[in-house]
Parts: sequence; structure tokens; C-alpha cells
Amino acid sequence: MRLPTITDTLRARRLLAAHLAPTPLRVHPWADGVTLHVKREDVQPVGAFKVRGGLTLLAGMSPAERARGVLGYSTGNHAQSLAYAAARFGAPCTIVMPERPNPAKAAAVRALGAELVEHGAALEQASAHAAELAARTGKRLVSAGDEPELVAGVATAYLELFEQAPDLDAVVVPVGGGSGAAAACLVAAAVAPGCRVVAVQSAASPAAHDSWRGGEPVARPNRIIAEGLATGTGFALPQEIMRAHLADFLLVDHAGITRAQWTMLRDLHVLAEGAGAAALAAVLTHPERFAGQRVAVMCTGGNAGEAEIRRVVDVGRTRPPRTVTGAGDGRAPRVARALP
Ligand SMILES: *Cc1c(COP(=O)(O)O)cnc(C)c1O
Repeated sequence: MRLPTITDTLRARRLLAAHLAPTPLRVHPWADGVTLHVKREDVQPVGAFKVRGGLTLLAGMSPAERARGVLGYSTGNHAQSLAYAAARFGAPCTIVMPERPNPAKAAAVRALGAELVEHGAALEQASAHAAELAARTGKRLVSAGDEPELVAGVATAYLELFEQAPDLDAVVVPVGGGSGAAAACLVAAAVAPGCRVVAVQSAASPAAHDSWRGGEPVARPNRIIAEGLATGTGFALPQEIMRAHLADFLLVDHAGITRAQWTMLRDLHVLAEGAGAAALAAVLTHPERFAGQRVAVMCTGGNAGEAEIRRVVDVGRTRPPRTVTGAGDGRAPRVARALP
């Protein structure tokens, strides 16, 4: 498989300029001398960074390929990204979801004009069915991880980040399939070699983590609740890029993610879905690794459902998090500067 390059990313940025505005980077003084930078991908159309990849993929297809359409399998933001991009480019789109999908996600995909097919008990069956449908219909099957265009598109977030904050010590990226972390590695290696890229996964779905540690893609149980991080296998393409450039790969647990969601909601007034708070969860769970540093956390998405929001607030009510603000006095952190 061809590896995406920084040149592909520059091309993707030019393609995306007509479709997406740069997302804000908010900077907060934080505990342990950390200067916390929060990259707000939750404000993207469809509420997640993945839209950068979907639009880049569709923009790069020939008119004939677009006319045949695209086909994806996903339970969440990847589906919305593809459906959104397909609508933008007038391409037919089919999404295969496991049976009884989250009604809100299914409705969102339909509202974007995509055809929704429910098949199989889990994503593994849905993906096999998607491959059959693609073979039968000629639609372009889009993998959730092994797609150079998706990585190049997602990497534009990191071009933006390092322009907004050229002097970062670390950027922390939540991982499902690994396209986001691979994208961070690709861009950091080219324009910010002094910045560590740190990946984060849930201990309940550690396939990418274990693949990276072990040096080859492996399958693992997939028990996480946060959909953006739910994946059962490591993907070859992002793993290869991560192997070359990733500084570290941390695990967090479900309680840590929920706590980070609450912290973001209460102190930063950011509504993150679980996956979108996982990077901050890593900073809160492993403070010794980030003390005194300029750290960026990717808030990758904000598509928290109603039940999830209620649960986060309940946890916050009963177990106040160990949030220390810049002033260390329990006040909400002051926004030191807001970059565009
Ligand atoms: C997909 C997703 C991730 C994980 O990204 P990968 O590129 O699959 O590793 C993280 N957060 C959110 C909100 C997502 O939608």
C-alpha cells in the first residue's frame, strides 16, 4: 500500500480550503505546569475530524468513480463523514451498520442522504457484507483505516495545529483505527520534529496499542463504549506510519474517559464524546509524562448522545474530578489566549 506523504497533505489542504474553515485551538493554563492546547475538531461539520478525510477522498475521485458511489461500514463518525462528503460531491453513498444501530447515528446518516443497510451483529459482519456489496455494485469500498487519502486529509488538522502552536512538546491523539495518530506522525515528522506524538487507546479495546507494541497488526477484544475508539484490529497502513514516528502509546480506562469528559464540560465548556475526551484522559491519568510541557490534546469529536451526556453529568456530580486549574484554586481555568 502506498504511504501518504506530506505533499499529499498539502494537496489535501488546498482541496479542503473550499469546504472547511480551520478549527480553533484554545489554550488554557493547567495543572502540573502544563499549558494545555485543545484542538476543537468537535466544531467541524458532522461534529468530528473525520470529515477532513471523507471530503479529501471524494475530492480526489474521478467523476466516473464518483458516479458509481462510495460504500462504507461504520457505527459512527466515519459513516457520517462519508455520507456528508458524498452529498457534497453528488455521489451515491451506502453505509452498512450492524443491526439495531444507535438511532441517532442512523438518522444522521439518512438525513445526509445516504442509503443505510443494517447487517450482522457486529462491525466484522457489516464489513464483510460491505465488501460483497461493493463487489456487486462497483461502489468504492472505503476502509476505516487503510486509506492513504483519509490519512492525508486528516493530517490537515495537524498542519493547522503546528501553525497555530509551533512550539509544542507533545500532541496527544486518541486512536481507533489509527488514521488520526498516523496523520499526526506524518506531519510532526515533517514540520515539528521536536514534538512527541502520543497515541491513546482504551484498555477495553487495545488492538492498535497492542499492534504497535508488538510490531504487527493483531486482533483484540473490542469492549469499549466510546464508539470512536472501538476497533478490533490494528490496520497495516497507520501501524506502519506509527511504527516510524510515534513516541508513546498510552492506555486509559473508561472511568478516566468519563472524568475527562466531565472536566471538559465543566471547566472548558466543551462537549466531547468519549473518544474526543480520551486525549485529555491520558494527560489526567499520566500527569508525570506531561508536567511542565506545552501539550496539545485533540478533541476529535463532540457527538455524545443524550444518555451519554446524562451519565457524564451524573459521574461529575458524585465524584468530582481531580481538576486543578492554572490558579490551583478550583476556579475554572482562564482562557489565556484564543487562536483562530
Ligand atoms: C474515529 C474517531 C477516533 C479515532 O480515529 P482513528 O483515525 O480511527 O484512529 C477518535 N475520536 C473520534 C471522535 C472519532 O470519530
